[in-house]
Amino acid sequence: MRYYSTNGKAPLASLEKAVVKGLAEDRGLYMPERIERLPDSFFEHIQEMDFHQVACAVADAFFGEDIDKGKLHAIVRDTLSFDCPVAKVDDRIYALELFHGPTLAFKDVGARFMARLLAHFRSGEELNVLVATSGDTGSAVANGFLGVEGIHVYVLYPKGKVSPIQECQFTTLGRNITALEIDGVFDDCQALVKNAFMDPGLNAQMRLTSANSINVARFLPQSFYYFWGYAQMKRLGLADQLVICTPSGNFGNICAGLFAKRMGLPVKRFIAANNANSVFFDYLRTGIYDPRPSIQTIANAMDVGDPSNFARILDLYGHDHSAICSDISGTTYSDAQIGETIREVFGHTGYLCDPHGACGCRALYEGLVPGETGLFCETAHPAKFKDTVEGITGSPVVIPERLKAFMEGRVERTSLPRDYASFKEYLLNAAHLA
Ligand SMILES: *Cc1c(COP(=O)(O)O)cnc(C)c1O
Repeated sequence: MRYYSTNGKAPLASLEKAVVKGLAEDRGLYMPERIERLPDSFFEHIQEMDFHQVACAVADAFFGEDIDKGKLHAIVRDTLSFDCPVAKVDDRIYALELFHGPTLAFKDVGARFMARLLAHFRSGEELNVLVATSGDTGSAVANGFLGVEGIHVYVLYPKGKVSPIQECQFTTLGRNITALEIDGVFDDCQALVKNAFMDPGLNAQMRLTSANSINVARFLPQSFYYFWGYAQMKRLGLADQLVICTPSGNFGNICAGLFAKRMGLPVKRFIAANNANSVFFDYLRTGIYDPRPSIQTIANAMDVGDPSNFARILDLYGHDHSAICSDISGTTYSDAQIGETIREVFGHTGYLCDPHGACGCRALYEGLVPGETGLFCETAHPAKFKDTVEGITGSPVVIPERLKAFMEGRVERTSLPRDYASFKEYLLNAAHLA
C-alpha cells in the first residue's frame, strides 16, 4: 500500500516512510491509497469473533501487503493487551470503554501500535520521537515507547495546562523519555513539533519522527475498536441503527471511525462532540473552516483550535461539505454543561463519565431519534480527572492501581520558552549529549 499527502504535492510514500516521517514533505497528512471494503461475510459473523480476530482482519486490510502476517498479528496482539468493552449506561445509550490500557485513555491503542511498528522498521540509527500533547497523548506515547531500544521520546506539553495526574504519567518515567514543559498553549507545542520536522538543518543532524495523531500508525489502528464496539452491540442485538459519538479534539479518533465506515462498518451516522472549542461544529454549520486559538476547558485533551485531522476528513469526503454533513453531525458543550452531564448521568444511572466522555454521552441523550441506539467513546477513565469529577459529583473516585504507581514516581522535566530557536538549540544539545 502506498500513502499520498492530503496536500497533493509530495511523492507517494511507502508505509515505512509514512510511519517514520509522520508528515509529508508538503506538510500534508498521509492517507492510504486504498480503503478496502471488508467482505459481507465478515460483518455477518463479526459477533462471533473476539477482539484480536476482528482487529487482525482490519489490520490486514491496511498493513497486510507491507508486513508479514505473522509479525503483524503479533504486533496487534501486543498492542491490544487490554479489552475495550461496551458498558450499558441507559436503555439506548452504551459506552465503548477505551480506558483499560496502561495510561487509562484511548491513545494507548494507537501509541502502542505505533511504537511496535516503528521498532519493526527501525534501521540502526537512533530515532527521536517528538510529540506535542494537550494531556493524554504524551502519557500514551511515552508509555508505548518506554524502554524501546534506539528510540528517544521528547514530550512537549503546555505549562500549567495539563492536570497533575496527566503530567506524572510522562514526567516520572525517565529512561528514554524526556518531558519538556513549554511556556505556551497546546497549539504552540504542536507548532514547535511541526517546525522541527520542516527544518532541513535539524533533520540533517537528528532522525526525527512524529507520534502525534497525524501519524498513520497511530491513527489507523484506532479503527480496530470501532469494529469491536459494533461486534459487541450486534451481540446485544442493538446494532441495527447504531449512532457512534466520539468526543473530539484533534479528530484522529473519529477519523478512524469514518475509515471504518468506509470499510463497510454499518454505522448509521457519527456525532463529533466538542467542548467549547467549536471549530468543527462551526464548520458543519457554515461550511467555513475558521481555526482559532484553543480555549481551556475541563475536557482539556480536546482543547484544540485547529484540529490536524480536519485535512483527512476533507480528503476522505472529497472536500464535499454536504457529504461530510450527511455522515457526521456535531455538538459543542460548555464546562457547565459537561459538569451537569457528569452529575446527572451519575445520579440517574450510576455510570461515571470523565469530562470528555460526558460530551459524547450528552450528545446521544440530546441527539438520538426513535429507533436509534447510541454508542459513545468513553475516551479516558474518570480517575484521570479526579479533582474535577469529584468536585462535580461530590463522591470520591477510586484510583486504579496502575495510575497510583505513576503518582508515586519522581518528576523530571525541562522548562522551555515557546520560540522555535530555543527548542532547536535544546534538541541539538540533547542529541549531542546522547
Ligand atoms: C485525545 C483525547 C480526545 C480527543 O481525541 P482526538 O483524536 O484528538 O479527537 C478525547 N478524549 C480524551 C480523553 C483524549 O485524551
